[in-house]
Amino acid sequence: MGENTGSDSVSVRSEVTGLGLDANSALKGSIEGLLKTDVFMKAVEGSSVAISITDLKANILYVNQAFMDVTGYSKEEVIGQNESILSNHTTPRLVYQTLWGRLGQKKPWVGVLLNQRKDGSQYLAELTVAPVLDESGESTHYLGMHRDVTEVHRLKNQAINQKSMLEAVVDVSPSVTVLINDQGEIILDNLAYKALASDMGAEPIKEIFTILKERTRGKFALDQRVEVKGIEIELFCPSMGTRWFTCFGDSITIDDEAIDHFFNPVSRQCTLLVLNEITEIRRRQDELRLHSLKELVAEEEFIQALGETYHGAIHQLEQPVNLIAAAVTMLEKRLGNSTGQDPVLEAMKLAHQTGQEALKSLTSMVPTNRVFPKTTVNVNQLLREAISICSTRLSSAGIDFNWQPEKTLPGIWGQETRLRAMFKQLIDNAIEAIEMGSAQYRVLEIATRSGNGFVNIEIMDSGSGIPENLELKVFEPFFSTKEGHSSRKGMGLAMVHEVVNQHAGMVSLGCSRFGGCNVSIQLPLAV
Ligand code: FAD
Repeated sequence: MGENTGSDSVSVRSEVTGLGLDANSALKGSIEGLLKTDVFMKAVEGSSVAISITDLKANILYVNQAFMDVTGYSKEEVIGQNESILSNHTTPRLVYQTLWGRLGQKKPWVGVLLNQRKDGSQYLAELTVAPVLDESGESTHYLGMHRDVTEVHRLKNQAINQKSMLEAVVDVSPSVTVLINDQGEIILDNLAYKALASDMGAEPIKEIFTILKERTRGKFALDQRVEVKGIEIELFCPSMGTRWFTCFGDSITIDDEAIDHFFNPVSRQCTLLVLNEITEIRRRQDELRLHSLKELVAEEEFIQALGETYHGAIHQLEQPVNLIAAAVTMLEKRLGNSTGQDPVLEAMKLAHQTGQEALKSLTSMVPTNRVFPKTTVNVNQLLREAISICSTRLSSAGIDFNWQPEKTLPGIWGQETRLRAMFKQLIDNAIEAIEMGSAQYRVLEIATRSGNGFVNIEIMDSGSGIPENLELKVFEPFFSTKEGHSSRKGMGLAMVHEVVNQHAGMVSLGCSRFGGCNVSIQLPLAV
C-alpha cells in the first residue's frame, strides 16, 4: 500500500475549501457546533467521498452517506466504533504506524489501505486523514476521507499486465518488431530490434524509413496509412555485413493521451513494422545464381576459346597454303606449255588443294557467335556479378578492390551474357596485369557513371599498363604484349572490341591514376 504525504494535504483542504471553509479553521472548536451549520452539513452529507470524523482514538463520531454506501454500514452501526472496523487486517503494520506518526505530528496522511465492508468483501480505499486543530494548535478530532479505488487499481494493473504480456510476446518473436508514432519516435520495440540496433551500431528505424520511402516511390509516410507488404530491405551491420529482411507494416490509430485533448479527443497514427530476416535464404540464392553464372561464363569462354583456336589454326595454315599457291603460279609460268607432265607441279597443286580443303573444313568448324536476346540491362548488376566471379582471384592476388558504382544507374539495351563475359575478361586482364607488374600497391577500381546518353564504365588498375603507341593495336586479334603466357593470346581485347561494337558503344585505353591501364567504355542508354 503506497502513501503520499505531501501534496494530499492540499486535497484535504480543497475538499473543505470547496465549502468555503478552511480545514484547519472551519473545523476548529466544537464539531457539534459545526455540524449545526446547515450549508456545511448538506455539502458534507452530499459529498461523493466517504467522510468520517473521529475522536483522537479513531472512534467514529460522524459518517456521511457516501461512507455508508461504500462500507455497507449504517450510521448506527459505526458511530462509537473504531475506524479499525474497516481494516481487513492485511494492511502492513508499518502503514498504520506511518499514518499515526503523521497524525501525531499534526500533519495529514494520504495512502491506500485494504478495507473490508460489512458484508466481508474487500476494497481498496484511497484514504486521506487529517487532524482538526483547536485555537491552541492541538488536535481535537481526525477527519477521514476515502474513496473506493478498487476498479482504478484493477484497470491500472490490467493495463500493466497487458503491456507486460504484449512485450513478452513481442520479445519472444524472432521478427524485428517496432511501433513508431507519427513523429518517428519508438513507442514499442522488441529484443530482436534492440539486437539489430546493436549490430548496426545505430538506430535502424532511420535507415528503414529511407529505404521504404525509396521502394514505395515516396508513398511511405508516418502520417499516412500505407500498407507495406513484403518489401525487401538490406541493412548493413559492420561486424556481419549486409543483412536482408522482408518488411511488413500497417498503421494503427490510437487516442492521444495528453490531457489537453480530454474534451476534444485526438487520434494519432502509429506504424507497426515487422521485419523477417531472409539473409540466409538470400545468401543461398546468391550462391546458386553465382554458380550458374560461373557456368554460363565458363561455357561462353570455352566457345570463345574454341573459336579463337580455330581462327589461330586457320591463320597459321593460310600462310603455307598461300605460299604453295604462289609457288604453283611461278612454276606454271616457268614450265610454260609442258605443265601437264611435271610431277612436282602436280604434287604442289595437290598440296595446295589439300591445304584449301583443310582451311575450308576448319572455317566451317568455327563456332558462330551465339545470338542472345537484348533486354534492358543494369550495368552495375553485371559488373557486380563479374566481380563476384573473379572475387577469389582478386583476394588471392592480394588486390585492394575499390567499387564505385553510380547509385541509380539508368539501364542500357544489351545482351547480358556477352556484356558480363566482357566485364569478366577486362577484370581478368587487370588482375593479370597487376600480377605481372611491379607496382607497390595492388589496386583495381571500377566506377560507373551516366551522362550525355551514355553509361560510362572505368576499369583502372595498378598493373604494367599499355604503351601509348599500342593503345589501338591491342584490339587487333592475335596481338599481345605478353609473351607465350596464354593459350588465348591476343583475343581478349578483340572480344571486348566486338562486344562494344555490337552495343554501338566505344572503348578506349589510357593510363590510370594508379600507374596501370584505364579501360574506358561508353555504352548508349536504353531509349
Ligand atoms: P491498532 O491496534 O488499532 O493500531 C495499529 C498501530 O497503529 C499501532 O501499533 C499503533 O502504532 C498505531 N495506532 C493505533 N492507534 C493509535 C493512536 N490512537 N495513536 C497513535 N498510534 C496509534 N484503518 C483502516 O484499516 N481503514 C480505514 O479506513 C481507516 N480509516 C481511518 C480514519 C481515521 C480518521 C483514522 C484516525 C484512522 C483510520 N484508520 C483506518 C486507522 C485505524 O484507526 C487503525 O489504526 C487501523 O485500522 C489498524 O487497526 P488495528 O486494530 O489493526 O491496529
